[in-house]
Amino acid sequence: MVMGDLVDEVEVAVLGGGPGGYSAAFRCAELGLETVVIDAAQRLGGACLFEGCIPSKALLHVAAVLSEVERAKEFGVDFGEPRISLDPLRKWKQERVVGKLARGLTAVAKAKGVEVIGGHGVFEDSSTLRIEAGETLRKVRFKHAIVATGSRPSGLPGLTLQSERVMDSTAALELPDIPARLLVIGGGYIGLELGTVYATLGSRVTLVEMTDGLLPGVDRDLVQPLQRRVDKIFAAIHLGTKVAALRETGAQIEADLEGRETERFDRVLVAVGRRAQSDGIGLEVTRVRLTERGRFVQVDERCRTEDPRIYAVGDVTGEPMLAHRAMRQGKVAAEAVAGRLAAFDNVAIPAVVFTDPEIAWCGLSEAQAKGQGLTVKVAKFQWAASGRAATLGRSDGLTKLVADAASGRVLGVGIVGPGAGELIAEASLAVETAALVEDVAVTIHAHPTLSESLMEAAEHLLAPEA
Ligand code: NAD
Repeated sequence: MVMGDLVDEVEVAVLGGGPGGYSAAFRCAELGLETVVIDAAQRLGGACLFEGCIPSKALLHVAAVLSEVERAKEFGVDFGEPRISLDPLRKWKQERVVGKLARGLTAVAKAKGVEVIGGHGVFEDSSTLRIEAGETLRKVRFKHAIVATGSRPSGLPGLTLQSERVMDSTAALELPDIPARLLVIGGGYIGLELGTVYATLGSRVTLVEMTDGLLPGVDRDLVQPLQRRVDKIFAAIHLGTKVAALRETGAQIEADLEGRETERFDRVLVAVGRRAQSDGIGLEVTRVRLTERGRFVQVDERCRTEDPRIYAVGDVTGEPMLAHRAMRQGKVAAEAVAGRLAAFDNVAIPAVVFTDPEIAWCGLSEAQAKGQGLTVKVAKFQWAASGRAATLGRSDGLTKLVADAASGRVLGVGIVGPGAGELIAEASLAVETAALVEDVAVTIHAHPTLSESLMEAAEHLLAPEA
């Protein structure tokens, strides 16, 4: 090892340059704190930009275009069979989407005076980070550190086959080819999103989910319309099924699915969750504590760990592992480091599954509210009654509103249908600001739009018979 620059002294060192890390760093800089970000990839964006949210949404947009083209036949427009050229598609995703956003983040960092240091950062003690980059070593001494090291895909416990045909989400997003037969293990966010991409591009997708339903934990009323759609576009969905073994046989992977016959696939996507990256960064030499379950960094509502100098944000601090939660925490941590009053006390963290139809929810689901002993009123507005949905040929959606029966306060909203990910923003605002059902009902919503569905659901709850 060669000692690089002299030891740097900074006010804030942010470990990890994903959405949590860069949001924290940018806010620190805005608050006048001298800030560096340490990231092994020497760039800002993290898993979200380079191997997660952004590239997957680019590919899901392509899938949506293909589905729309297919649906257009219903109203007499036939574009013929689509021809997909993988090279231009990969190039567009990589350069025009990911590359452009990455350059944008670099420019923002420069404008705000945030230095990005390339290398793997490890705590030496509660005020020093050692940064290893190849043969060079650099040290940063900090007043405060913000850990934003994110998460990585979990492997399949017990199945150790190493093969380039067995992909995690990062590899699948590279779009190595369009396999004739793809096995997707896991019916959560990633399995459904990337399964949709590959199925729409032409793969025969078999999905295996260990629990008895897709998207475990999500309201079944929202999952049903998606289930009907994936039943059509996937070759098979096996619920309550585990993969007992995977073997490489020539150019294929043989999979033993519990209780079923052995099947062969050209590729396998493993999407069985993500785990916190709290290991390998020297936290054990600090006072930072990890939770027993999940090995998450324990933080309070100000994103402080047990070590007074060290804060943590994002996936490394627990569920839900969503970029927008990390970004909000990043800003809270920065404010807290600067001595301002700020807390991560949000009640609504919207979640969006970018499938077709999309599923989005925020606040409490009906089951969660009842589980908390609350007496609730629930309205379900079927999009079959929406003018806008009819014009889009998409009457398969549903908007579900959960309100506190006594106070009329909006507790939660679930939406399934195209654009649900955009529509949920209004619901998040309603839940976060403790809006009443009446507030939503009397707010004028543009006609004809899908946003009216929330107003309709609210009106339904106010009707005397509700
Ligand atoms: P997930 O937790 O959403 O789903 C994993 C699924 O795999 C679950 O349904 C689980 O029951 C199943 N499973 C677990 N072990 C299995 C096994 N051995 N065999 C079969 N099924 C098994 O996890 P994910 O899809 O890998 O995504 C990871 C995380 O990334 C998500 O929880 C989410 O936080 C984040 N993410 C978010 C988005 C988004 O916001 N749109 C998209 C992708 C990922």
